[in-house]
Amino acid sequence: MTVTDDAPTPDAALVPPPPGRCPVCQARFRASPICSRCGTDLAPLMRVAARAHAARAAGRAALARGDLPIALQWIALADQLQAPARP
Ligand SMILES: [Zn+2]
Repeated sequence: MTVTDDAPTPDAALVPPPPGRCPVCQARFRASPICSRCGTDLAPLMRVAARAHAARAAGRAALARGDLPIALQWIALADQLQAPARP
């Protein structure tokens, strides 16, 4: 095995893909659960993203009714499921 310039570094392998992008080729999610660029099955990732979205919505609802402890639990769960987008 040879190391090439375009081989991923160990640190790069630990960086998760941006939310909403294929972890293999970085293409944006489309309406299909199959990546339009590389053919990867994205359905499991989409299910996790949907759960994170629902947890964030529950957190916002809890915050809106003034229940901060529950809101923090929902947001922590959402962040465990899917790291928030970085600017
Ligand atoms: Zn892909």
